[in-house]
Amino acid sequence: MNDSKSLRSRIAKTVRDIPRSGIRDFFEIVSSREGVISLGIGEPDFVTPWHIREAASQALDRGVTSYTSNMGLLSLRRGISNYIEKKTGVHYNPEDEVLITVGVSEGLDLAIRALIEPGDEVLYHEPSYVSYNPLIELAYGVAVAVETKKENGFRVTRAELEEKVTPKTKVLLLNYPNNPTGAILSKQDIEEIAAFAIERDLIVFTDEIYDELTYDREHFSIISVPGMKERAIYLHGFSKAWAMTGFRMGFTCAPPELTEAMMKIHQYSMLCAPVLSQEASIQALKHADEDIAHMKAEYKKRRNYIHSSLEEMGIPCIRPEGAFYAFADISKFGMTAKDFSLKLLDEQNVACVPGTAFGACGEGFIRCSYATSLDEIKEAMKRIAQFIKTL
Ligand code: PLP
Repeated sequence: MNDSKSLRSRIAKTVRDIPRSGIRDFFEIVSSREGVISLGIGEPDFVTPWHIREAASQALDRGVTSYTSNMGLLSLRRGISNYIEKKTGVHYNPEDEVLITVGVSEGLDLAIRALIEPGDEVLYHEPSYVSYNPLIELAYGVAVAVETKKENGFRVTRAELEEKVTPKTKVLLLNYPNNPTGAILSKQDIEEIAAFAIERDLIVFTDEIYDELTYDREHFSIISVPGMKERAIYLHGFSKAWAMTGFRMGFTCAPPELTEAMMKIHQYSMLCAPVLSQEASIQALKHADEDIAHMKAEYKKRRNYIHSSLEEMGIPCIRPEGAFYAFADISKFGMTAKDFSLKLLDEQNVACVPGTAFGACGEGFIRCSYATSLDEIKEAMKRIAQFIKTL
């Protein structure tokens, strides 16, 4: 009765129109092959530090298996408030300004749905994390991409933002340290963008999930600029620096009015974040500084290696200063990013993500993740060097 065409026609148009993630599609091809070295995954290759896992299993042994408050465990919110204040100098009240979410993924969805009405414009810089554009469109917002350039180290500038802002712009969405480019912004860059946001009366969503992972200088958060806390939703989580992707733990920090708005959606759609993950995160905040330092030192070694190898073989790449990605310029080989990636996979069993997965302006680039062992990276670099000789 219901053939597949008729079922498809009943799917909401916004959902039908949204393309599947370019990364996921590519990795379906990768997972069907053997012996592939993957530089594709945006996920730490480290297992979550043992004491964090133990905190979760001890909580389970104690029978901690219930819902928590919608906002999340107060002790975790207090820990987050202290952690953010130490980093940024900004105090968020754990009672009504910190919300525990299911990853930064949910935090982004909540922030967008809480603020965006049909037709509201959201400025974001591209190449960008794959979720931004679809989440904005799912909320009937208008996603306005601001292209960042390799020549400028993929740093978004005030002048570029000025070109795209309109009276309908409600939100500016930032992500530094950046996925997929590895770029970070200087304090001065951030201050200029903050001044722009204040002048234009924009709300700023700042996704700082990689803020611990910078290799040459500290990350400076836009919430530290006076006047920004009042207009910002700060998004962060435990997936990356703590190697806790599977725990699905994130949080938002925002003024009470915005937190309350996000909490209402969270309450009806998620109820609360998983309690065992919340218990693990309390431990993570208290005792993981050394683990983070160790993982960060490893990423830095790999960053240095992957960057110099790509440059030596004649593939230009800005020196990534944060996150764990190198965004390499393969435009001189005269192939699309997708064709380059597929041929590299086919001929050398190395998987990288075509830059177009992160927006149209990623054409001519591939993203190589260095969240994989140095030995694998070394072998992958050898294979890429061999591959480009044949082009
Ligand atoms: N934001 C950025 C920039 C990311 O790169 C990712 C994951 O790759 C996320 C958000 C989602 O992270 P989470 O695991 O906390 O949902």
